[in-house]
Amino acid sequence: MSVEFPLDLTEDRYTDVADEEKERLFNEIKADIRFNGYLYGCYECGVCVAACPSARFYDFSPRVITQVLAREDVEVAYTLMNDSVWDCSQCFSCDRCPRGNSPGGLITIMREVAVRNGLQSARDALEGYGRIIYKIMSTGTQVSPDMLQPNAFPDWGRHVQEISEHLDVWRKALPPETLHTTETSWQVEEKTLVELYLIWHMTGVMDMIKEVDEGLFMILQDVMEERLEDAGYDVTFD
Ligand code: SF4
Ligand code: SF4
Repeated sequence: MSVEFPLDLTEDRYTDVADEEKERLFNEIKADIRFNGYLYGCYECGVCVAACPSARFYDFSPRVITQVLAREDVEVAYTLMNDSVWDCSQCFSCDRCPRGNSPGGLITIMREVAVRNGLQSARDALEGYGRIIYKIMSTGTQVSPDMLQPNAFPDWGRHVQEISEHLDVWRKALPPETLHTTETSWQVEEKTLVELYLIWHMTGVMDMIKEVDEGLFMILQDVMEERLEDAGYDVTFD
């Protein structure tokens, strides 16, 4: 559905979703082991909003997230999980809440529930990151500088063309020698990579990927199963 802003939380945007489904997802948020340590109530003081960079630029409020979860407003929580939580930059400046809440932590949980359940909002939010996720999960390391190309990340702005043309020069301006390369980032040992694949398999990360991007899952599955087999592990991702 198209999302109109500002968000009117008095209206139910998702009447097509059954109440039972909204309640199931809310209960999944509450059941997270971190939930009780992130939510203690709310003074409505606005400290979190004042500290929040996303609140300055988006129609977004960590205070609203906290209060809606504290009130157990299942319907609005579902709306926020779709239309609001993706605006958070996960900086955790809101952790200075005098009540001891962590709105950013609550948002982490809501995002994870959205991803695990394959909500369209999660698919949309992660759509532009498939290449990065593939790079990190297949090689066990971060985006390498050679990926800084205008056609790879069009949303990186108009200066990316100029930067990418002189990338080797830019890199050499950085002090640590390990950052001088324009082709790779640091090397990940085979043993570490195999451990990472096993962790992502056993902790359900691959299941989450499958929910939001089946194509990406299949590519990663091929890479991981082959390497794990070579390392002597009989692991099937399905
Ligand atoms: S973690 Fe999210 S909600 Fe908290 S201050 Fe940062 S952007 Fe705002
Ligand atoms: S800082 Fe804490 S108590 Fe104050 S409005 Fe934000 S969540 Fe509520």
